[in-house]
Amino acid sequence: MKALPSRAQVVIIGGGIVGASVAYHLAELGWTDVVVLEQGQLSCGTTWHAAGLVGQLRGTESMTRLIRYSTDLYARLEAETGFGTGWKQCGSVSVARTRERMTQLRRTAAQARNHGVSAEVITAAQAQELWPVMRVDDVVGGVWLPGDGKANPSDLTQALARGAQRRGVQVIERVRVTGVTVKDGVVRSVSTSEGEIEAGYVVNCAGQWAKEIGRMAGVTVPLHSAEHFYVVTEQIEGVRPDLPVLRDPDGYAYFKEEVGGLVVGGFEPDAKPWGMDGIPYPFEFQLLEEDWDQFSIIMENAIHRVPALETTGVRMFYNGPESFTPDNMFLLGEAPEVRGFFVGAGFNSAGIASAGGAGRALAEWIVNGAPTSDLWPADLRRFARWADNDTWLRDRVTETLGLHYAMSWPNKELETARPLRRSPVHHLLAAAGACFGSKMGWERVNYFGTATPYTFDRPEWQPRVNAEINACRTQAALFDQTSFGKFTLKGRDAAAALQWLCTADVDVEVGRVVYTGLLNDRGGYESDLTVTRVAHDEYLIVTGSAQSTRDFDVISKGLGEHRAVLVDATGTYAVFSVMGPKSREILQSVSKADFSAFAVGSSRLVDLGYATVRATRMTYVGELGWELYVPSEFAVTVYESLLATGLTQAGYYAIEAMRIEKGYRAWGRELGPEVTPAAAGLRFTCKKTGGYRGADRAMDDPDRHVVSIVLDDPEAHLWGGESLLRDGEPVGYVTSAAYSPTLGTSVALGFVSDAAMEKAQVDVAGEMYSAQISRKAPYDPTSSRVKA
Ligand SMILES: Cc1cc2nc3c(=O)[nH]c(=O)nc-3n(C[C@H](O)[C@H](O)[C@H](O)COP(=O)(O)OP(=O)(O)OC[C@H]3O[C@@H](n4cnc5c(N)ncnc54)[C@H](O)[C@@H]3O)c2cc1C
Repeated sequence: MKALPSRAQVVIIGGGIVGASVAYHLAELGWTDVVVLEQGQLSCGTTWHAAGLVGQLRGTESMTRLIRYSTDLYARLEAETGFGTGWKQCGSVSVARTRERMTQLRRTAAQARNHGVSAEVITAAQAQELWPVMRVDDVVGGVWLPGDGKANPSDLTQALARGAQRRGVQVIERVRVTGVTVKDGVVRSVSTSEGEIEAGYVVNCAGQWAKEIGRMAGVTVPLHSAEHFYVVTEQIEGVRPDLPVLRDPDGYAYFKEEVGGLVVGGFEPDAKPWGMDGIPYPFEFQLLEEDWDQFSIIMENAIHRVPALETTGVRMFYNGPESFTPDNMFLLGEAPEVRGFFVGAGFNSAGIASAGGAGRALAEWIVNGAPTSDLWPADLRRFARWADNDTWLRDRVTETLGLHYAMSWPNKELETARPLRRSPVHHLLAAAGACFGSKMGWERVNYFGTATPYTFDRPEWQPRVNAEINACRTQAALFDQTSFGKFTLKGRDAAAALQWLCTADVDVEVGRVVYTGLLNDRGGYESDLTVTRVAHDEYLIVTGSAQSTRDFDVISKGLGEHRAVLVDATGTYAVFSVMGPKSREILQSVSKADFSAFAVGSSRLVDLGYATVRATRMTYVGELGWELYVPSEFAVTVYESLLATGLTQAGYYAIEAMRIEKGYRAWGRELGPEVTPAAAGLRFTCKKTGGYRGADRAMDDPDRHVVSIVLDDPEAHLWGGESLLRDGEPVGYVTSAAYSPTLGTSVALGFVSDAAMEKAQVDVAGEMYSAQISRKAPYDPTSSRVKA
């Protein structure tokens, strides 16, 4: 064993494929004072027993880019390091057993092409030509992805580690990290079985151990282990080395060639959690007991697809634990709790495919002090402290493992480990027949009515949502938006700090509310939110539910030396919104305050029934309306007073459709770290005088533009993710979509490459539909004119 240095610029905990990749990429960026600590030997944790499938396709453009980089890297690593990696670009075939699955595959193929991944929709006969040993009598069709591949995970790890070592990184095996020291919110050192190492940065790449390492530093790393299986068979006639990977998601199974036999694995819908009492130590190159009962659903389906398996012997049963996260995406980034403490873990059985891109992204984040691309789907900050609960995590991962092969229905809601966070009026919403979804752990109303089956077509709930939208557009509707993230910023420098962070002028009079962007140094959106000045030295900041941890982190880091304190007040207030042309008279009927003298963008305390609440005049649906910020203990009283006025209750599906009709952008969809105000069409939200973070890049000439999209054919239904084409060539894609009862057709927002574009074709699962494109919103209530 090598001697432990007393100090290193970066200490990476964990010598699996992810730790090795972070080390490799740090070294490539010129950071070589790096030590990788591994309690056993390289790859001995989960990496060594991975099946080695590398599929390129992911749900978003940025995540697909990340995986595509992995494939590029794996293809060249052997030549660069002299170490074999087993990389083979064998392609992959996915087959569908149902019409719905085929629709999903067609949508996937269209997205793939849009993101630069070649993908071909194929017939059952073509699928069989590519994969002769399968039966296809029940196959509806499939997709062929020629760029997918496979690799040897241990060899890849060795090659990455060797590449890093060649540049000066130290990889030290048989050293166990036992503690992490944090001082004044900054990581200082790690304690190990062999002594202490001072560190400028610590990177937690400890796989299924990462939760425990996180806890050593007071950092939430929400993951839980589950058992995960595959078998390796004896040789099968017709199984040749260049056979593509085969996925049969309706049968929960995948197949990969290995020395003339097959690796048969899969993702069962009801997974088996493991490690409830922690991960044993040592746990090195170790497997768990065979569990044929748990594996039977995969094996039976595999035999159905490949009948030769019935008479083929099994050489080896692999049951290895892997860590899964609450939403089946990995966890990346600097911990919001501790500066200098980074996490790359929770790879949900896609760590081999993801490691190249994830390692590079994390290394760039460390070296540059900020991510260089949109990593939001994997950002550690999409969770919060509440997610660090073992019982909740255990129950949730029974579902997340199976998500790989579950249907990716639009608006799919996870069902396990709910309810968790509830609005104070949850019981009133439930009594009114709410159909709940969940976001950031919160139960939120999607619409009022019973749950209906998932579909890619127009859903059965649409008439319910139409009625809620019509009520809001013609009368008024009541929405519970308690899940908003809410912070107070207080202190003598609060205004100065926010002026620097916000694109808009927020040094306004007390009682004014301002919609603003928060940009990064590249001029891209870190967030968009509202800021209300509630006192000369105090602001109420309100942001979307999903990004509340991230925004809190961005704002607190951006305060710098300013004297102001940021406090999370999310649980302190319920938020009820009364929106619609009749909202003024309805609120007037329960308050003595004068709602006729209440300017747009103003905010003040008003009486409402017996309670005193903050009423803020603003709208996200495009109608006259107020958001009411109600101290939680008054929430039920206030909600009951509002219900007594006869207001129609409405949910988030209605909000979503109305904000799209009105062209309002949403962070995480149209707005993100790579989108500037110029690209978003939000120049008007930026101070002309500059003086805010990212100002010098905010007006850069964009190469893509946010536009509104209105479908010509009222029958087709858009969900988001669809490709936009002109003359058969991809020119953009849909980011958000909904059916608009106001316009009588599907409306959407999306990106296009040409701001002057007026028409495009939308690829809806292989069918082309014409659409009108405009930089203006299709619905404008102030002109009482509906533009189609
Ligand atoms: C059966 C199975 C099949 C799979 N198939 C695929 C596949 O086909 N494709 C794919 O992309 N992915 C697959 N995976 C997933 C893949 O194996 C993992 O996502 C990946 O290996 C995770 O890598 P890692 O570096 O995060 O974790 P690990 O490989 O577990 O590395 C973490 C390391 O940290 C070390 N460590 C922990 N605590 C400490 C400490 N206190 N001090 C020092 N060191 C510590 C551990 O010893 C371990 O070596 C599969 C997983 C399983 C179980």
